[in-house]
Amino acid sequence: MTDAAIAPPTVPDPMALFRLDDQVAIVTGASSGLGERFARVLAAMGAKVVVAARRIDRLDALAAELPGSLAVEADLSIAADRERLVAQTLEHFGRVDVLVNNAGIGSATRIEDETLDEFRFAMEVNVTAIWHLSKLCGESMVAAGSGSIVNVASMLVHVASAPVKQAHYCASKGAVINMTRELAAQWGRKGVRVNALSPGWFKSEMTGDMDTDEGSQAFVKANAMLPRMGNEDELDGALLLLASRAGGYMTGHSLLVDGGWTAR
Ligand code: NAP
Repeated sequence: MTDAAIAPPTVPDPMALFRLDDQVAIVTGASSGLGERFARVLAAMGAKVVVAARRIDRLDALAAELPGSLAVEADLSIAADRERLVAQTLEHFGRVDVLVNNAGIGSATRIEDETLDEFRFAMEVNVTAIWHLSKLCGESMVAAGSGSIVNVASMLVHVASAPVKQAHYCASKGAVINMTRELAAQWGRKGVRVNALSPGWFKSEMTGDMDTDEGSQAFVKANAMLPRMGNEDELDGALLLLASRAGGYMTGHSLLVDGGWTAR
C-alpha cells in the first residue's frame, strides 16, 4: 500500500479553531485559582489578556509573564470599577473579543447564620457584576458583530450544595445560568455568543483544604462518578471551546465539567 493510500483525509487543522491570536480577552478574578489559570490558557492560545481583580500585586506578577497583557485593579462589587475596567481595556486595546466572568465568592454557612448583607454582597459580585460587565463589553462586541462571553457558574446550578451549605452561592450561580441564556438570545443575531462554564470541585482559595481534608475527600469520592476533584488542567479545553471559534455554534449553553457529579 502506498503512503497516499493510507494518508488521512485532509481537513484544515482543527486545532487552529481554538487559537485566539490577536484577540483581546478580559478575565476577572485572575489573581488566583481558576481565573489565573484561564488567563494563562487564553494567553497561550495567542490572546492579549486583561487580568482583573483586587490584588494588584498578584495581577502585576501574572501580567509580567503573559506577553502583551494588562493588569487592572478592580473591585467588582463597585460599579465605577467595572466601568473603568472596560474603559481601560478599550482605551488600551481598542476592542474586547472575549469576556470571562470568573470572579466569584461563596462560603459555607447554614442559612440560619447568613445575613441579608452577606447575601446581597454575594449577589453583587456573582450576578450584578456579570450583568454589568456583559452589558459594557457586549456593547462593543455587538458593534463589532462578534464576541464570546463565558460566565463561570458552577455545577451547583443544577443540584443542591448541602451538606456544603451555601444558599447565597447557589442562588447567585442559578441566576447566572438563566442570564446566560437570555443574553445569548438577545445577542445571537448580533454575532455575540454567551455561554456558561459550570465546574465541579477544583482546588482554589475558595475550596481551601478540600483536597487534603479526609471528610471532603470522602464526600467527593462518594458523589463524583470520577471519584476525585478536577485537576488544574481539566477546565482548559472547555474554556477554550466556549471562548474560541471551535465553539462557534454554541450559545446559551451551560457546559458541565464535574466528573459526573450531576449526572447521577
Ligand atoms: P478563588 O481562588 O477564591 O478566586 C476568586 C477570584 O475572584 C479571586 O481572583 C478574587 O480576586 C476574585 N474576586 C473576589 N471578589 C472580588 C471582587 N469584589 N472584585 C474583584 N475580584 C474579586 O476561587 P476559584 O475557585 O478560582 O473561583 C473562580 C470562579 O470559579 C468563581 O466564580 C467560583 O464560583 C467558580 N467555581 C469554582 C469552583 C471550584 O471548585 N474551585 C467550582 C465551581 C465554580 P481578589 O481577591 O484579588 O479580588
